Amino acid sequence: MEFETRAIHVGQEPDPATGAVTTPIYQTSTFVQEAVGVHKGYDYARVANPTRTALQECLASLEGAAHGHAFSSGLGAATTLMHLLSPGDHVVSVNDVYGGIYRMFSQVYEPKGYRFTFLSAQEISSGLAEHLDEKTRLVWLESPTNPLLNLVDIRAAAEAAHAVGALVVVDNTFATPYLQQPLSLGADVVLHSTTKYLGGHSDVVGGFLATNDDATSERLAFLQKSLGAVPGPFDSWLVLRGVKTLAVRMEKHCENAAAIASFLERETRVERVLYPGLPTHPGHTIAAAQMRNFGGMVSFLAGSEEEAVALVARTQIWKLAESLGGVESLIEQPAGMTHASTANAPFAVPPNLIRLSVGIESAADLIADLESALAT
Ligand SMILES: *Cc1c(COP(=O)(O)O)cnc(C)c1O
Repeated sequence: MEFETRAIHVGQEPDPATGAVTTPIYQTSTFVQEAVGVHKGYDYARVANPTRTALQECLASLEGAAHGHAFSSGLGAATTLMHLLSPGDHVVSVNDVYGGIYRMFSQVYEPKGYRFTFLSAQEISSGLAEHLDEKTRLVWLESPTNPLLNLVDIRAAAEAAHAVGALVVVDNTFATPYLQQPLSLGADVVLHSTTKYLGGHSDVVGGFLATNDDATSERLAFLQKSLGAVPGPFDSWLVLRGVKTLAVRMEKHCENAAAIASFLERETRVERVLYPGLPTHPGHTIAAAQMRNFGGMVSFLAGSEEEAVALVARTQIWKLAESLGGVESLIEQPAGMTHASTANAPFAVPPNLIRLSVGIESAADLIADLESALAT
């Protein structure tokens, strides 16, 4: 079955009890047992819940994965994944990683004795091997990165990491499985904040991990129930409903983003536009090779920090807010908002950077709104 069909049907057979077409929200914490240990596969909802099972099967299928595990947030998924490691282990991470992941690495795990090396997307794509040692357990990638939209050559990074036996995790939140499938490029684990494009409607917080490796999956299932960062049935259902329209939403996100990137390129008040779909973008060739299309995120540099801060407060349709990936367009200044936690890092984002999460409204309306905000 093709992607669009799997998004709507995998894990979502009509309810055997009633014939309900839509997977029910199994709002229950426990399940009756006929005798001790004799039940229908469910005993306690932290361990498993049928609505969550449907979501896990569907998302795993979309990532081309044998196994999927859902979490209460993207960071809940990341924390659980980090429990595959122990103090003393070494992690190599792309340096313009999601701000919350950077905060977790630098302020939670580093003080506990985990070692981190942060490299640029360019260094990871072309020279990862020289930064790996026998203690390197994990290589943490994002592509495109947030918010600078740099591209990592996932296949090249996976080859280098596997040579020293390190696991490769790709945070695929920006691309979504519709645009990029990291496991097919050699990654071992895919991570999502389902809060973003997978949910797609800015109404739920969730996370997800997918893998093809049976042993990794078994350990992740153990950690999922042992650490307990699980999504509730209603949150699972919201993400499940969101992914049904993922393919059509992503097509429109990409179409609008491309139109907005080329509009911004023509604007004299804009210093520089960062969009992987532009042939001038340094990661364009990698993006074209490993992605179906270039995504719905566009960043650009305003003339100064003051201009950036003023501009993001002037738009009408574009709402000033953190987060991304919903149907509505959002605008933000990463240095003061999503990436404030990287302020003291050597790779702090430029203060004049503006990040757009391009929604699926009319492109003409979105461009007109930006045009009048830029003109003021
Ligand atoms: C939002 C986000 C996360 C964190 O996910 P939460 O659901 O907010 O915990 C991780 N990675 C990326 C790329 C994100 O955009």
